[in-house]
Amino acid sequence: MFAVILITLSFPYTTNIAKGDIVFDNKDTVLIVAPHPDDEALANAAVILDSVEKHADVYVIFVTTGAHNTDTILKFFPMPVFSSYLLAFKRYKEAVSSDKILGIPKDHLIFLGYPDFGMMKILTNPYIDYFSGITLRKHVFEKWSVDRGSNYDFKVVYSEILEEFKNIKPTKVFYPAQYDLNPDHRAVSILTQAALNEINNSKIESFTYFVHANGWPTPVGYFPDESLNLPKFLTEQPKWHVETVRLSQNEIAKKFLAIRAHKSQYLSKPKFMLSFVRKNEIFTTNQCLKLSEKLPLFSKEIMRKLELTPFVESASVDSSSDFYNIHFTLFRGVPHFSKINIFLYPEKFGESFLLMPKYRLEIEKGVNNLLEIKLFDRGKVVFFEKESLSGKFKDLDFNVSIAKKYFENADVVFLMVSFEQFDLRLTETPWWCINLK
Ligand SMILES: [Zn+2]
Repeated sequence: MFAVILITLSFPYTTNIAKGDIVFDNKDTVLIVAPHPDDEALANAAVILDSVEKHADVYVIFVTTGAHNTDTILKFFPMPVFSSYLLAFKRYKEAVSSDKILGIPKDHLIFLGYPDFGMMKILTNPYIDYFSGITLRKHVFEKWSVDRGSNYDFKVVYSEILEEFKNIKPTKVFYPAQYDLNPDHRAVSILTQAALNEINNSKIESFTYFVHANGWPTPVGYFPDESLNLPKFLTEQPKWHVETVRLSQNEIAKKFLAIRAHKSQYLSKPKFMLSFVRKNEIFTTNQCLKLSEKLPLFSKEIMRKLELTPFVESASVDSSSDFYNIHFTLFRGVPHFSKINIFLYPEKFGESFLLMPKYRLEIEKGVNNLLEIKLFDRGKVVFFEKESLSGKFKDLDFNVSIAKKYFENADVVFLMVSFEQFDLRLTETPWWCINLK
C-alpha cells in the first residue's frame, strides 16, 4: 500500500550561504513542531536548552503518535491494534522523560495523536477521513492526545495546529524542512507554513530543521566534537539563510541523554540518532521560491535506480498575462495506466487557508500528445472551459497552463507533483512554496 518512495537529496556544494546565531531571551515563546516524538530532541535540543536557560517559554507540538516504526512495532508487540496503541503510549512516555531532561514541563508538551506515516495522505486528500493501516482507525484514540475523538482529517489537523499557534502565541517557531525525506515531515512543514501565513504576524520568526536528508548527518555515529554541517542540498539554494544554535559541553551531555530517553527508537537506530549529538544545531529560514526560479528536486542518482518509474528531472512555474504555467521535464516516460497529479493549494496571507481551493490536476496522456486533464477541488470535479486550463506534452516535457482566476488572487501556492499507477503512488516531488506576487 505505502509506495511513497523516499528519495535522497544531493547537490554540489556552493558557498553562498549566510550564517547567523539564533538568540533567545526571556520574552521569547518558543514553539517546536515535531512530526514524531524524538524530532524535538534530535534537531532542537539546543534550542530547548538555550531557551530554558534564558527563561523563555517552550512548547512542543507532537503531530503524530510515532507508532509506525515497524521495526519496533513487530519486535515488541504481536497484535496490530494493541501494538500501535502500546507503541504510541511508549513513545509518549519517552517524550515526556526526554523533554524533562531538556527542561520542558509536561504541560507544555502537546500530543495531537495523528497517525504516523499518514500525514502526506491527509495533506493530499483534504476531503476524506484517512484510514490508518497501522492504528486500524479513522480517528485519534490515544487518551493522552488533546485531539482524542477527532478524525484523521485535513481540516481538523490544520485547524488544531492553527488553534495551538493562536493559543501559544510563539515568537519563534521551529518546524520541519519541506525538503526532508520523510513524508510526515514534509506534510507537517506545509501545514505549519500555511498556519504561519494565515496568522501573518511578521514578528514571528520561523526556522526549519532537517532530520532525514541524503547522507546526513555525516559522519554517522557519536562524534560530539564535530559540527553538524548542512545537508548538501541546502548549499545549492542561493537564498537559504542558515542559522545555528551552539551547545556547551554540559548541553551536549544533556542532549545525549535526551536522545537516549527515546529508548524504543534508540534501540533500532542508535548510530543515526547519535549523529545529532554535535556541537551545534542548524536551521534555515524558510523562503518561498520566486516565479521562474528552478525548483529544487530530489537526487537524480537515486531516482534513476527506481527502474521504470517516471520522475521529474527539472521543474519551474512562471506567469504570463492571465495564466500560470507549470513546466516539468521527466527523466523517463510515463508507463501505461499511470497518472500525473499536480497538487495546487493557493493561500492568501492573513486569510483562511481552509476556505481556499485545494486543487488536484489529474493528467493522463491522450492521443496526439494532448493531455487529458481533470480538475478536482477538495475531491469534487471542477468543470472548466478549455481556454482556462490546458496541457501539452512533447517528448518528456510537460507544460500545463492554468488561468490565474483559479488562484483567487493568492499570495503563494503550495505545489507538488506525484505519479500514480493503479492508485499506487510511485514517486513524488518535494512540496514547493511559490510566491505569486
Ligand atoms: Zn520524525
